[in-house]
Amino acid sequence: MRTLCEEIKESDIGKEFTFKGWVMHYRDHGGLIFIDLRDYSGILQIVFDENIEGESFKTAKKLRNEYVISVTGTIRKRPEGTENDTLKTGRLELIAKSVEILNTCEVLPFQIDEESEVNEFIRLKYRYLDFRSKRLKDNLIFRSKFTHLIREFLNGKGFFDIETPFLTKSTPEGSRDFLVPSRLNNGRFFALPQSPQLFKQILMVGGFERYYQIVRCFRDEDLRADRQPEFTQLDMEMSFVENKDVISIAEELFAMLFEKLLNVKIERPFKVLDYDEAMDKYGSDKPDTRFELIIRNLTDVFENSALNVFKENIKNGGVIKAVCLPEGSNILSRKDIDELLNTAKEFGAKGLAWTKVSENNALEGGISKFISDGERSRLIAATGAKNGDIIFYQSDSKKTADNVLGRLRLHLAKKYNLINKNRLDLLWVVNFPLFEYSEEEKKIVAVHHPFTSPAVKDIEKLETDPLSVKSDSYDLVLNGEEIGGGSIRIHNSKLQETIFKILSISPEDAKIKFGFLLDALRFGAPPHGGIAFGLDRILMILRNEESIRDVIAFPKTQKAYCPLTDAPSGVNTIQLRELGIKLNENITKI
Ligand code: ASP
Repeated sequence: MRTLCEEIKESDIGKEFTFKGWVMHYRDHGGLIFIDLRDYSGILQIVFDENIEGESFKTAKKLRNEYVISVTGTIRKRPEGTENDTLKTGRLELIAKSVEILNTCEVLPFQIDEESEVNEFIRLKYRYLDFRSKRLKDNLIFRSKFTHLIREFLNGKGFFDIETPFLTKSTPEGSRDFLVPSRLNNGRFFALPQSPQLFKQILMVGGFERYYQIVRCFRDEDLRADRQPEFTQLDMEMSFVENKDVISIAEELFAMLFEKLLNVKIERPFKVLDYDEAMDKYGSDKPDTRFELIIRNLTDVFENSALNVFKENIKNGGVIKAVCLPEGSNILSRKDIDELLNTAKEFGAKGLAWTKVSENNALEGGISKFISDGERSRLIAATGAKNGDIIFYQSDSKKTADNVLGRLRLHLAKKYNLINKNRLDLLWVVNFPLFEYSEEEKKIVAVHHPFTSPAVKDIEKLETDPLSVKSDSYDLVLNGEEIGGGSIRIHNSKLQETIFKILSISPEDAKIKFGFLLDALRFGAPPHGGIAFGLDRILMILRNEESIRDVIAFPKTQKAYCPLTDAPSGVNTIQLRELGIKLNENITKI
């Protein structure tokens, strides 16, 4: 039997306890040895005194960092002046009577809990040591509580937790599949699911009405700090619902999670932004609204501009849009402004025009000499600019101007600390277009996935003007990150076939890829819709981490490699032969 370090309290003074855990810090003060003992609950200071009878002091001499011990003794108050209020047990200590070494530990590849710049590769290779650090341990315990609360909440709302297969067929989330060759059917491959999308819809056709799953999804994409080849979604689907029902249950769930885990009350209903408005004002479909820097449309102001580029661009259907940086003149040097031009170019801009606002709304520098008095007063009114502000302009197509200014506003906010880090801004983005034109594929593609229902009012435009059709979908955004997305689905097989036609998916192809879903839709499919949330990304934001690897127990590196297990690794020829696979000659065997 043992007691956990952080279980003890002042009222335990004078009582005897046994603790088990790891030696964290070891300090030899001659006749006294101090260690910090760490178990999963926290830390407790242990004192070994050479004057105490028995072997404990002798054994304590042998202790080293990360040795595993069992120690018994009496709790006492720390002498005055030696308390450590950063620890929960910082006013108490254990004076040891006996100690047993349960295991030793080799020299550590890195010091646990020291926020030194330990190479992440090394931390992943020795993940078990990294788990002993407070930060990672707290993140994973938080994650465990998070999923527990989700399950409790959804079970209470009549949702069923149903597993769907990993060895399956390609699913249409628009990414590259991971393939698994079949030994029993040589030449055939399973695909790991990019999401359980098709299966959750089949469950609705089967009458389950409310499904959820905390499930691994697999997408073979280029990795970034917020992407992993396998990641976890909270996946949900409901029958006989409209978008407001899915939105409402999601809000209730998040309000509960934020309140229980962060003690933060979130106002409901969440803000809702139309996709067009999000693009127009924030240049992004996942706007960060923790700071202003709203993009303004100044096309009207500059219709007769003395600047030829502006005038010509407007004539050719382009726009003039701008972002005003409050007190920019104080924040930015001339050199900073020049550097911003390069940044804007990296974002796809042709240039970056600017003007400073000085006293009495006069304009200075940049393009100010090309701006007439009339334009100036309308421009000041439209941007709300004040003395000391700098206005940055884009003259381009709406798409490019929005994109560049959207990225510029984020860049400025991050670089000049305009973001209130304590805010949690949750909002829905709705009314996305159903389709977009892919320059790469030279065809119309689905913005979400091909099972997303068009907005009912737009169905009649499907065949005549598909790119103007909106979808019945919704994305949830937290602090400028998309944390979830879903839609009302198509439950009518005829409509589904029309969508495939618009997406240039032939009936034969549709049959091969999604035949089972099309069949199911013909057998009394109820209206249904759902949503999926990216659990890792949400946890990363809530834990203030920069990378989702810090909220996942066993993540991969940016190169999709696992330093702990050395996966992926080579396989032997017999395994390959059984799978009917021969490696290309120029692949070196491992
Ligand atoms: N399956 C979708 C995704 O993974 C989410 C949904 O539509 O429910 O993005």
